[in-house]
Amino acid sequence: MLSYQQARELVISRIAAFSGSPATESIPLREALGRVLAQDILADRDYPPFDRSIRDGYAVRSADTHPGATVRAIGELKAGDTPTSPVKPGTCIQIMTGAAVPEGADAVIMVEHTEREGDLVTLDRAVAAGQHIVARGSEQSAGKVILGKGTRLAFAQLASAAQVGTAQAAVFRVPRIAILSTGDEVVDFTVTPGPFQIRNSNSVSLAAQVATLHAEPVVLGNARDTRADLRAKIATGLESGALVLSGGVSAGKYDLVEPVLREFGAEFLFDAVAIRPGKPVVFAICKGKPVFGLPGNPVSTMVTFDLFVRPAIEILSGMAPAPLPFFEAVLTEGMTEKPGLTHFLPAALETGDHPRVTPLRWQGSGDIIAMSRANCLLVIPSDRETINAGERLSVLPRGL
Ligand code: AMP
Ligand code: MG
Repeated sequence: MLSYQQARELVISRIAAFSGSPATESIPLREALGRVLAQDILADRDYPPFDRSIRDGYAVRSADTHPGATVRAIGELKAGDTPTSPVKPGTCIQIMTGAAVPEGADAVIMVEHTEREGDLVTLDRAVAAGQHIVARGSEQSAGKVILGKGTRLAFAQLASAAQVGTAQAAVFRVPRIAILSTGDEVVDFTVTPGPFQIRNSNSVSLAAQVATLHAEPVVLGNARDTRADLRAKIATGLESGALVLSGGVSAGKYDLVEPVLREFGAEFLFDAVAIRPGKPVVFAICKGKPVFGLPGNPVSTMVTFDLFVRPAIEILSGMAPAPLPFFEAVLTEGMTEKPGLTHFLPAALETGDHPRVTPLRWQGSGDIIAMSRANCLLVIPSDRETINAGERLSVLPRGL
C-alpha cells in the first residue's frame, strides 16, 4: 500500500503532467484577491525610484560627521519634494522619512542624534556612508520580475502589484470542482432525517475546503448507491475541472464508485493509502479529469481532501502545490496507536514559545464534533506504537 507521501507525489506528478497550463483571463487588480498570476509582474521603474531616507533627520556628508561636529542646515525636504540644492561640505538638509536624499549627501543622521540652534545642527556621533538610506533600485531594478507567474495574490502580493501600477492582471481561471456525495442513507442537511438517515455534511465541508483554496465548488448533491444514479451524476461531475466524491469506496456491497468509474474507462492510480482515517481513498483519471473518491466518514473525507485533493486543486489553479505545513509540538500525554498506518488525529495545538499538542478524545472517523473542536491534525508515524508524553511530534495546523 502507498504511504501518504507516495500517494501525494503520484497526485502531484500525474496532474502536473497532464493538466498543462490552465486558461487565463484578465481582471482588475481590485478583484484579484486569492487569484493566481498567469503573468510575471515587472518593476516599472527602479524600487525605490530614488535614494530614499528611511528616518527623520538630516541628510549629511558622512565625512563631515563626528561627535560634536556642527553643520549648517540649508533647507528641508519632505516626502514627495524634489531636491533642488546639493549638500555641500559643512552643510546639511533636514529630511523626512520617505524623502529623496539630495545630491552631495551620502547618509542620514537621525534627528534624535542632533541638536539644533537656528541654522546650526550639532551631531552627537559619526554616521557611516549609506546610513538610513535605501539606495535607488536596491529593492528591485526597472524591468525585473517582482512577482512570478504562479504566485497567489494575497494582501502583500496585491500591494506589490499595485506599487508597480498593475491595473489589470492576467490570472488563471478558477478551477470548477464538482462535489458529489453518495449514500442511500444521506439526506440534504436542510431536511429532517428519518431515524436511520444522516444529513449530508460532507458536501458542506468539501465545498468549504474547495472555496478555502479559492476554487469554485460545484455541489451536485447526493447520488444513491445505484449504478444508474452514480453513472448519471458522475457524468455531470466530469464536466467540471475535477470531481470529488465522498463515500462508496470501501469494500461493502453498495460501494459502487469504483465499479462505475471503471465503466467510464477510468485509470486508477491508487485506491488505498496507508493512513487512518482515510485508508480507502481513490485517485483516478477519468475522461481526462482527475477524480477523487474519498471515504464517506466525515473526518476521513476532510483529512483525505487536505492530503490529496488540495495539491491537485493548487496545480489546476496554476500554482506549484504547497508542501504540507508541518509544525512540531510536544505531546502532553502518552498514547498508543496501531502501527502500520500513519495516523492523522484531531488535536488541540497550543502555540507559543513551547508549542504543545493534546489529542482530543474522539469516537473515530465519524466524529465531526471532535474534528470541529480541533485546530490541527496530530501525525503519528506508521512505525510508532507507544508514544510518551514529552515527545516531539509533527502536527498539521488547520489552515482556516
Ligand atoms: P461510506 O464510505 O459510503 O461507507 O460511508 C461511511 C459512513 O460515512 C456512512 O456510514 C455515513 O455514516 C457517513 N457518510 C457517508 N456520506 C456522508 C455524507 N455525505 N455526510 C455525512 N456523513 C456521511
Ligand atoms: Mg456509502
